Amino acid sequence: MSTEAHSLYSQLPAIDRLLRDPAIEPLLASHGQTLIGELLRQMQAQAREAIKRQGCLPEWCGDWPQALQARLAQQQQPRLKTVFNLSGTVLHTNLGRAQLAQPAIAAIGRVMGAAVTLEYDLDGAGRGHRDRAVADMLCQLTGAEDACIVNNNAAAVLLMLAAVAPGKQVVVSRGELVEIGGAFRIPDVMRQAGCQLVEVGTTNRTHLKDYQQAITEQTGLLMKVHTSNYSVQGFTAAVDEAQLAQLGRQHGLVTATDLGSGSLIDMTQYGLPAEPMPQRLLADGVDLVTFSGDKLLGGPQAGIIVGKKALIAQLQQHPLKRALRVGKMTLAALEATLRLYQQPELLAQQLPTLRMLTRPQQEMQTAAERLLAQLSPHYAGRFALGAEPCWSQIGSGSLPVDRLPSYALTFAPLDGRGATLERLAQAWRALPQPVIGRINDGKLWLDLRCLTQEAALAEALLS
Ligand SMILES: *Cc1c(COP(=O)(O)O)cnc(C)c1O
Repeated sequence: MSTEAHSLYSQLPAIDRLLRDPAIEPLLASHGQTLIGELLRQMQAQAREAIKRQGCLPEWCGDWPQALQARLAQQQQPRLKTVFNLSGTVLHTNLGRAQLAQPAIAAIGRVMGAAVTLEYDLDGAGRGHRDRAVADMLCQLTGAEDACIVNNNAAAVLLMLAAVAPGKQVVVSRGELVEIGGAFRIPDVMRQAGCQLVEVGTTNRTHLKDYQQAITEQTGLLMKVHTSNYSVQGFTAAVDEAQLAQLGRQHGLVTATDLGSGSLIDMTQYGLPAEPMPQRLLADGVDLVTFSGDKLLGGPQAGIIVGKKALIAQLQQHPLKRALRVGKMTLAALEATLRLYQQPELLAQQLPTLRMLTRPQQEMQTAAERLLAQLSPHYAGRFALGAEPCWSQIGSGSLPVDRLPSYALTFAPLDGRGATLERLAQAWRALPQPVIGRINDGKLWLDLRCLTQEAALAEALLS
């Protein structure tokens, strides 16, 4: 080792001494010796590395307390960051799907720091049933006899198969063997649930007789799966739920539908594309319907199963229910979300998902034009900004082919280079509250449909 390097190493302050530094000592009270000591050791290791590689001390070594504060601030940043979802996909799975309504957020806060009547029956003896309150509301809203709540819809399908058709054959159309993002594939779930998948029909056409001919002694369930993230078009045929339920009744078989998203209200009343409703399927005679809590319902992540009382009881008693059950936060948020559905006239205002889906294009255009005027000078010489119409999608496997007319703020690089666009997108992703847009057609698009904090966005993009 050179004497020069040796003298640099000797300049590094000892951890003990740093811990007694008047500018650092107060941090011990607020953050504890473990964390502060760990950060200081990391800083020392980095300083040694710099001496070894570059032969000099890093600049921050001039002020250890300040460098420590900066690292502490960085370390305390949540890793689960809130972002501006301007991707144009409202229910974006990778961005956490539905944003909860205020009453649901408040309900979570209320139950988090307190003891609650989760499985405690105030009126009498014994353990209550944790889904009871929410199940009652679901029955009222859908006409179901009973309901069961689990962690997500994938769990709902798994539990339903395992509880209703263990070791049995489950008949599904070849046109409905879906794969949802994140490795949810019907054939795999079937296997995990201990069921044997029996495929019927073809990719584009399945008839009632296909189901009929597949029924054997071994059949445990007739199942339909909503083809939520793709659509088969052209020469097609599928059996509807009412027909399948009738076939099931004739053979004494249970019928079930994995609806995926599903909607408790008729979306067409808002000018939105039609989405199947659990209550209609139940009315059509389907025994069990499963759907997600955080898709069109606009609530917390959850899997909801509604249907016949005896079957739901089977689900509630299955050991997997214990493994897949939800906690008090989910139940509180779900209850508050469902309560909004009891006031359907107010839903489009109170439920963020529906508010975003029904946002008038004119409103988004006005916002785009305001931001355009505000931001253009800042990007002058680098990007040409525009306010342009675009199309958003609902996302999360709802209505894959339908698009909603929207409005975007666009950024076209004056040098015409894709790399410039990528750099801009990357810089926005690195912001304290990242801005997530979409690159298309040589421009970066910020779809304003999901924008709620316009001033905060302007501030972020001007930084
Ligand atoms: C989304 C979806 C699922 C999975 O639901 P999660 O709530 O994401 O677990 C299953 N089936 C269908 C048809 C879906 O659309």
